[in-house]
Amino acid sequence: MGSQDKDSRWMRFRRMAKNVTGKNMKILKYPLGQLQANCYFLIQGSDCLIIDPADDASFIAEELQRRRLKLVGMLATHGHFDHILAVGEMQASLGKRRVPYLHVNQKDQFLIDRMEETADHFLGFKQTILPVDKIINLENIYSIRISNFKFEIIHTPGHTPGSVCFYFPEESVIFTGDTLFKGAIGRYDFSYCSREDFKKSLKKLLKLPKKTTVYPGHEDMTTVENENQSVLQSINRL
Ligand SMILES: [Zn+2]
Repeated sequence: MGSQDKDSRWMRFRRMAKNVTGKNMKILKYPLGQLQANCYFLIQGSDCLIIDPADDASFIAEELQRRRLKLVGMLATHGHFDHILAVGEMQASLGKRRVPYLHVNQKDQFLIDRMEETADHFLGFKQTILPVDKIINLENIYSIRISNFKFEIIHTPGHTPGSVCFYFPEESVIFTGDTLFKGAIGRYDFSYCSREDFKKSLKKLLKLPKKTTVYPGHEDMTTVENENQSVLQSINRL
């Protein structure tokens, strides 16, 4: 890619990055890749935890370097390719000593295994995707600490069997992947989706404090309170 292209891409990304400051944690949002999945940088001091690395490893690496951040881990809300395409390349490019693990529920391993063919199918062109190397399975984990980031794993199957949300009670924020969007819920028409599980998962999210800020896997942020009515309607339709 030529430098001019790169410059215009920078400008575009700089416009898109939304800067929101929590109590102790800074949150940056970058919609990346053809499907514009939200990649979030969670920052405390110089430590950065990434939620859903999406599909632009070189951009992420440049941005980490530009902000002088140390990547302490990567989290995936679920195994769909548009949320994790960059992981293999990120892990390979950072070298053996500092390979950041991907934390993901192993119930979505089948999606990770077929990521390349699914991406080819949905994006309409062939590309080489480096395999995900090091994984920590979130299946039976409900709270976790990575560096100084302490948060809860809320298991929210439905959109995929291994979908999870990352809840930071001290910051009153939750990252919901493709389970909950502003004004909508994720798809439930794939063969492996479960409507029954999806209903239960949404009910769990409605129990969170109303003021909790919701950072979804696509599009804009919202709050639990703002989504209450639309989620109740979705539960009835499921
Ligand atoms: Zn998805």
